[in-house]
Amino acid sequence: MAWLCARTVLQTCRRPISYSLVCYEKQFADPLDHATGLEKKEMLARLAGNDDPYNMSIKRRPHSTKENPNIVYSSFESRIMGCICDEDALHVNWMWLHQGPPRRCECGHWFKLVEKAPI
Ligand SMILES: [Zn+2]
Repeated sequence: MAWLCARTVLQTCRRPISYSLVCYEKQFADPLDHATGLEKKEMLARLAGNDDPYNMSIKRRPHSTKENPNIVYSSFESRIMGCICDEDALHVNWMWLHQGPPRRCECGHWFKLVEKAPI
């Protein structure tokens, strides 16, 4: 009787176990599908090739005059901009630009705010 019990146990253990390996292809969702509002507009602008949709990149300023000022784009009536007046300067000269006539920095460069359609 004890042998039968042992045999039953062994048969139970020897029972073949079948399993199948299922591989799911896991992918993260595209962030563009989840983005909404301004974030989505920014992503679409970058996909279209506009890497600076808010005109936030640093630009080298060529020589400027009152008649030929540096152009600063904004979707608003005013914008704060910074001028690194001297290449060796340790600070940025911040100033407000408003729509209208160009404004002169302390270093002599001229800047003009030009309205730009928002993204
Ligand atoms: Zn300056």
